[in-house]
Amino acid sequence: MIEVTGFKDETVAVMGLARSGLAAAEALKKGGARVLAWDDDAKKRDAATALGLSVADLRSTDLSAVRALVLSPGIPSTFPTPHKVAARMRDAGIAIISDIELLARSRREARYAGITGTNGKSTTTALLGHILKEAGRPVAIGGNLGIAALLLDSLGADGIYVLELSSYQLELTHTLACDVAILLNITPDHLDRHGGMAGYVAAKERIFDNQSARQAAVIGLDDALCRAIADKLSAAGRKVVPISAEQAAPGGVYVARGRLVDDIDHTHAEILDLAEAERLPGRHNWQNAAAAFAAARCLGIEAGTAAQGIKTFPGLAHRQELIATIDGVRYVNDSKATNADATAKALACYDDICWIAGGVAKEGGIASLAPYFPRIRHAFLIGEAAPAFAATLSGQVPFTRSGDLATALNDARAMAQPGGTVLLSPACASFDQFTDFEARGEAFRHLVEALKPGARA
Ligand code: ADP
Repeated sequence: MIEVTGFKDETVAVMGLARSGLAAAEALKKGGARVLAWDDDAKKRDAATALGLSVADLRSTDLSAVRALVLSPGIPSTFPTPHKVAARMRDAGIAIISDIELLARSRREARYAGITGTNGKSTTTALLGHILKEAGRPVAIGGNLGIAALLLDSLGADGIYVLELSSYQLELTHTLACDVAILLNITPDHLDRHGGMAGYVAAKERIFDNQSARQAAVIGLDDALCRAIADKLSAAGRKVVPISAEQAAPGGVYVARGRLVDDIDHTHAEILDLAEAERLPGRHNWQNAAAAFAAARCLGIEAGTAAQGIKTFPGLAHRQELIATIDGVRYVNDSKATNADATAKALACYDDICWIAGGVAKEGGIASLAPYFPRIRHAFLIGEAAPAFAATLSGQVPFTRSGDLATALNDARAMAQPGGTVLLSPACASFDQFTDFEARGEAFRHLVEALKPGARA
């Protein structure tokens, strides 16, 4: 855990006592701050009290001694309507900050690689962390992904924090200067929380705030919003390293005919056939690989070493994760695909798919997946979305309304042919049948493990 010493003997409010909030409260307390902790959920308050934290109702308590509010990224501070506590603090002129801000202030001597974008953040964060680790660098990987920022190890000047940064966290982070900042892509998302597209883009762009001219801005060129940001930063004399999965990116890193090309030194060096990166399937991962490679190079990693790291990346759970190959059939867990866009990426990677889908559907359902329907041998529908998905598939893809995941897997197993793939890629949220996408993916993993020959006895 990081010790946050900047508020010694001062009072700091912490609102939102889930993973990152509890860590912030404890890190502040460890550093000698007086912490006033609050969560609207009584159970979370009880958990905080059990940890020895002082709970105070921030909706009404006297704020005169409060120096700052550490606000959980899940709680609105502006749009659609600010939480009452955030509004109160703002009216009182109290700074509202994130746990990332506390980390940045506490470990100033360490180096930082920040990763943001609408899609691919977790994959790119884990991949860059893996490359740096394999290259022998001391790293700590977390933030929005995995370990909360203040629970990471305390690193010195040779250490690199590799941080996934959401737009919510960036909005509340003010002094972080990333040695390398990655912006992968921007498409409309979370617009309600940012008051519209302009607010969302502005939040993402904050990842480049505070960078010096020597610190690198790695930016995806594959959408117009990111291209405009790259142009703006270049015009301002900043060090922009462009990356692309679709086109040449002079002076940057790009993918041509499935090969990763390093042009950072203007040498057009072909580095790696991305087909060799087995745990990064699909074109969408090319962008992630190009970004992580570029960032690693900017952090002084030699090209061959970075390429080796891409090849040996073990992949992230629940994102096109190959659980097992049984009787020639691949079983792939893509539980993270909670919308049709994400599922499209997975369907594009396989032929002869026994597709398990359903849960709580998003607006638009699966109509946009029609171009991939010819790849699907049979669909197995689960959860609330089953009737709507059945209506979309009707007459185009054979389907079974399996109901639940265990039944769907059994049904799929009976139908799958050697060389084919049983793919859980639900295109839906999970909360009708599971607590979250991780629980859904773990359930799939256990069910598949039980199908393995040794497990059958
Ligand atoms: P995030 O952390 O931004 O949600 P993940 O790395 O967890 O991103 O990937 C989530 C899903 O987003 C993946 O399963 C895949 O469908 C899709 N995805 C991943 N990388 C990209 C990318 N670079 N561009 C578009 N979609 C992507």
